[in-house]
Amino acid sequence: MVIAGLQKLSLIDYPSKVCSVVFTQGCLFRCAYCHNPELIPITAAGMPEATVFNHLKERQKFLDGVCITGGEPTLHRDLPAFIRKIKALGLLVKLDTNGSNPLMVESLINERLVDYLAMDLKYTWKKYDEIANTKNKTVIENCRQTFGLIQFSGVDHEFRTTILPGVHREQDFFEMAGYLKPGEKYFIQQTQFVKNFDPAMSREIGFDVKELAKKLREAFPQLLVEAR
Ligand code: SF4
Repeated sequence: MVIAGLQKLSLIDYPSKVCSVVFTQGCLFRCAYCHNPELIPITAAGMPEATVFNHLKERQKFLDGVCITGGEPTLHRDLPAFIRKIKALGLLVKLDTNGSNPLMVESLINERLVDYLAMDLKYTWKKYDEIANTKNKTVIENCRQTFGLIQFSGVDHEFRTTILPGVHREQDFFEMAGYLKPGEKYFIQQTQFVKNFDPAMSREIGFDVKELAKKLREAFPQLLVEAR
C-alpha cells in the first residue's frame, strides 16, 4: 500500500458512521474533474502504515470504521492484508473504487472484508472512456464487471456519478439509472471546482441537478436517488 494521507475523523465519508479516511496513492484514470490529482501518480512516496494503525488503535473506541479511498485503492496488491488488520481492530470498512479491478473486488467480497462498497459509475458504458480517459477498453470492461459483482455481492453499496460539466447530459443519467436494480442507491454528485486534474474544464452543467434527481426518482421509483 502506498498511503497518501489520513483524515482522522469524518462524519460524511461512511453513511451513518463515524470513520477515519485513508487515502491511497495512484490511479489509472484521468477524470477531468478529479479533485485529488496529486493522488493520480502511482510512484509518489507514502505515509508509514504504522501511522494509520497507531491512530486507529488510539481512537478505536470512538470510530465505527474506516473509509479507504484514493486514488484507486484496488491497485495495491496488499489491500486485503491492510483491511484484515483494520478488521482485527473490530472496525467496519468502506471501500471507494472506480471499479477497474474486479478480481480484487471479488476477493474482498468473498473474504467478507468490506462492509460497504461505493463505486463510481462514470458514464454510460459506451461513452465511459470520455470521462475515465484511460484509452483502454479492457479497463472499461473491468469496470462493467465490477459493477455487476457489486450488484450481486450482498454487501451494502452505492453507485455514484460525478457530473462532468459540458460532457454529461440529462438523458445520460436516465440510461445509467437504468443499469441499477430495485432498492439500489444512486447518487449524483456535483463537481467540486477546486484543484481539478483539468483546470480548464467547463463549469457550465446546463441542467438543475436537484431537478434531475427528482425526475429520476419519478422515472425509477424503485431506486434510491439523491443529488449530493
Ligand atoms: S476522480 Fe478519476 S482520476 Fe481521480 S481518483 Fe477518482 S477515478 Fe482516479
